[in-house]
Amino acid sequence: MANSVIIIGGGISGTAAAYELARHGVSVTLLERGMLASMASGWTLAGVRQSGRHPAELPLAQAAVTRWEQLSDELGADVEYRQGGNLRLALKPDDVATIRQVVADGNAAGIPMTWLESVADVHEIAPALTPDLVGASFCPTDGHANPLRAVEAFAAAAQRAGADIRTAVEVLGIETDGRQVTGVTTSTGTIPCERVIVAAGVYAPRLLDPLGIHIPFNIVVVPAIQTEAMPPMLDQVLGIPTGGFAGRQQADGRFRLTGTSVPWTATDHTADNVMPTLSQLANTLGWSTRLVPALVNARATAIWGGLIDKTPDALPVIETTPEVEGLVVATGFSGHGFCLGPVTGEILADLAVEGTTRHPIAPFARTRLATIGAPEAVTLHG
Ligand SMILES: Cc1cc2nc3c(=O)[nH]c(=O)nc-3n(C[C@H](O)[C@H](O)[C@H](O)COP(=O)(O)OP(=O)(O)OC[C@H]3O[C@@H](n4cnc5c(N)ncnc54)[C@H](O)[C@@H]3O)c2cc1C
Repeated sequence: MANSVIIIGGGISGTAAAYELARHGVSVTLLERGMLASMASGWTLAGVRQSGRHPAELPLAQAAVTRWEQLSDELGADVEYRQGGNLRLALKPDDVATIRQVVADGNAAGIPMTWLESVADVHEIAPALTPDLVGASFCPTDGHANPLRAVEAFAAAAQRAGADIRTAVEVLGIETDGRQVTGVTTSTGTIPCERVIVAAGVYAPRLLDPLGIHIPFNIVVVPAIQTEAMPPMLDQVLGIPTGGFAGRQQADGRFRLTGTSVPWTATDHTADNVMPTLSQLANTLGWSTRLVPALVNARATAIWGGLIDKTPDALPVIETTPEVEGLVVATGFSGHGFCLGPVTGEILADLAVEGTTRHPIAPFARTRLATIGAPEAVTLHG
């Protein structure tokens, strides 16, 4: 059994892994260059969704939903998980076939999705939505959570179990003896270890490229808008067929609204630098007020951009690397990784300790990317 593991990254993947390792008695140190949840796990819409998932991700998403249902009790902190469902809205007759196919695929995979075939059916569960709809898919077992609280809860539970969580420590390089991990070099010195987990989101290639491990990313930026607290009016996470808008009302009443992605080519990925364009914001606001008319008078209280670590097939890379022993990687979640977080933590802990995992991760091996063709569109439906 590995007895010293370093985790690089304090998002949901890294903190969940720290929790799993610490509670199983493994000595673990998590290093985060900024604050916890300072990148994707803070920028996220934080939908917890099985519907519309790629079949390869579905078993992980289903296992994750089971974890989310009892996560607040397990971690001893309210992560504001709400299982209000997911609505994917058909806005014009042409959308119906696409969305009905999502329902059929979901049902075939055992997900209890239904097709709501009239505005009245949609309004019965979501009266705040526009009447300018044709129908919607509904998945009652989807939901959402508070991402900052979830990450902090994992980190706190990990610390209680003995994990060492350090923020404002940047890993500058992963050290090896040519075959096996030996430690990491950080902004505060070198730390020896036997295993390294890279859960560094969009920064993963900077750590892996020097080891000859290449993951092709097509990084995009997504706009996000948060409103002031509004009266309770929406339980579900909303999406549209193109993936160009998704939104939800948080447990505290504020709306969190996201829109269409555009390519991101800058090399500074820190939050102060990552901002959306005005046209992205205008588009997101247009969808928001069209779909939830009561938002017309809501005050915007925050805007930000969120980077997505998109792989060519929009599936993550989760593996123990064949090139370097003791190195475990989870990145490239392509806009879907928040929901999976609790299970990603289990997988990473399994891989770091045993080298194998109870979860089906064969589709996420990096070797598949060598044969991928045209990139998939990013789909953000919560
Ligand atoms: C706008 C937006 C909406 C989204 N909506 C959803 C959704 O509805 N549902 C869903 O499931 N997913 C969604 N996602 C995707 C999801 O948020 C991410 O897939 C998930 O949060 C990834 O978590 P992570 O821990 O792997 O990475 P991150 O949260 O990015 O964490 C990586 C961490 O590593 C740290 N780090 C990087 N390099 C170093 C280093 N050298 N040394 C130390 N620390 C380092 C970073 O500072 C960062 O905190 C969305 C993403 C965005 C941007």
